[in-house]
Amino acid sequence: MAFPPAFLDELTARNPIADVVGQYVNLKRSGSNLFGLCPFHGEKTASFSVSPDKGIYYCFGCHKGGSVINFMMEIEGLSYPDAVRSLAKRAGMEVPEDEQYQSRYRQQERLWALHKEAARFYHSQLYAPGGAEALRYAQERGMPKAILTKFGIGYAPDHWTALVDALRKKGYTEQELRDSGLVTVSRKNGSLFDRFRDRLMFPIIDVRGNVIGFGGRILSNQDKNAAKYLNSPETLIFNKRKNLFALNLAKKSKQGYMILVEGYMDAIALHQFGFDCAVASLGTALTEDGAALLSRYTDQVVLIYDGDTAGQNATRRAIPILEKAGLQVKVLQMRDAKDPDEFLKKYGADRFKILLEESSNRVEYQLGAILKKYDLREDDQKVKYLQETAELICTLGSSVQREVYGGRVAELAKISPEAMKLEVSRAYKRRLAREKKQQEKIDLSPARNLQPKSRSIRYDNMKSAMAEELVLSQALREPALLDQTRDLRPEMFSSQLLGRVFDQMLKRHRQGLEVSVGGLTDLTAEETAHIAGIAQRQEGPVNEQAFQDCIRTIQEEYQASSAKTEDDLMALRNKLKQSKGYQG
Ligand SMILES: [Zn+2]
Repeated sequence: MAFPPAFLDELTARNPIADVVGQYVNLKRSGSNLFGLCPFHGEKTASFSVSPDKGIYYCFGCHKGGSVINFMMEIEGLSYPDAVRSLAKRAGMEVPEDEQYQSRYRQQERLWALHKEAARFYHSQLYAPGGAEALRYAQERGMPKAILTKFGIGYAPDHWTALVDALRKKGYTEQELRDSGLVTVSRKNGSLFDRFRDRLMFPIIDVRGNVIGFGGRILSNQDKNAAKYLNSPETLIFNKRKNLFALNLAKKSKQGYMILVEGYMDAIALHQFGFDCAVASLGTALTEDGAALLSRYTDQVVLIYDGDTAGQNATRRAIPILEKAGLQVKVLQMRDAKDPDEFLKKYGADRFKILLEESSNRVEYQLGAILKKYDLREDDQKVKYLQETAELICTLGSSVQREVYGGRVAELAKISPEAMKLEVSRAYKRRLAREKKQQEKIDLSPARNLQPKSRSIRYDNMKSAMAEELVLSQALREPALLDQTRDLRPEMFSSQLLGRVFDQMLKRHRQGLEVSVGGLTDLTAEETAHIAGIAQRQEGPVNEQAFQDCIRTIQEEYQASSAKTEDDLMALRNKLKQSKGYQG
């Protein structure tokens, strides 16, 4: 993506980061930085910082960070070019035409249009003669016409090229059909076939109202070989981790909370029965991206997964993911039916409302799950039950909560509240000891502590990487230092990422452009956040001596790593020992 660097510099200058972030986060000044509650993860103390000088934001809690453009991408869920466009609009600037962007955007627009066309086609097929069985199936599953229309549900005919033919007729090219993910390519002769055949089709619609993919369900459970659900593959417009089914409708709900379920049918049934705040994850377990998306529209989620073991396991995994995104979690335990779809159709909305009101917070849910594991009439099992519940209760922040839940457990196990209190405080001490031990382990291996938090960025040579970080952070603070790096070449950096960033900074400095995190290009969000973190940790004035020392460390480590034999290494060590100021 190539916007002219000078344009981006002006864009950044005319959108001061404190102003832009300030529209979303309540910021308070502290020294040269501003702090506020992080909009990207749930927290009670402010660890989200903005540095107007450096033009960056960085969260010390969740390690997100970057320039004003990255902030817009993250908070509004925009692509890079769209974030640039929105900032340009904010500052009343004209965006220079860009071939690459134009063509990519045009490509996206064509795919959106193609998907809309496909959704229309599938929907019409439901009422065509070939769709009779599918329509009957939908009706048997209790979906009235109004719901079929509202969700745009359709039918993919039992035919090899029904959709391919229909889309070709509308003028879509071979390449566009391939890019859509709605066709498969024959390995024998390269011809195109419909991916979805003889399935009930659920369009997946993003929050902006574009059809971006489909889920297709087989019409009966007879065929054991066919997957029950088939989803669109990832495409230019479809990322199943970053979208939720029915969020386009649920985001308009006035309920004040959201219901998260496992399947499309469950979400649809809930909407049908008046629970217009239901969404489903897209054929996979809930992801952090999905939780973050949800947290943009609500702060409270009721989790309703299937009552079977798989559903319970999924619930256990989803709770921390949702809580990490700052969401309050309640869990509704399905009973008398295997899922919400079945329950609603058997018992109706009123009885479901009662279940919903009874849905418990996650502590109650977890206590219930522990209780199910033990038979309290057996003494040894009762002891294990008490130990395990104490482990859970001692993690609660408030003493009132500990007392309430402790009391409840004591009553169930028929012991005194005092005895339970003792058990909880023992569990608490055990936990402290465990944490202390873990902390000692971390303290003893500082190298591990310094590894980047993101798993996709690893430092192979910690000594060199620390020097590389310091060179970058100081040069970001004082670009004039880049004039003193003549002997330092990007390939000497042990971290490929840091070397790449150094290279870009050097080039910009030589072209007379501003050297800042905002000026860096071709980095992933994680990489940008990592560099913002490095920049943000740099405080106070620059230290030229330290800067030079770090350059030497990088050079030495580079030479040591490129020394091929033991002899080379010895010769190098001797040479270094003779050179001035070497302390090793
Ligand atoms: Zn954060």
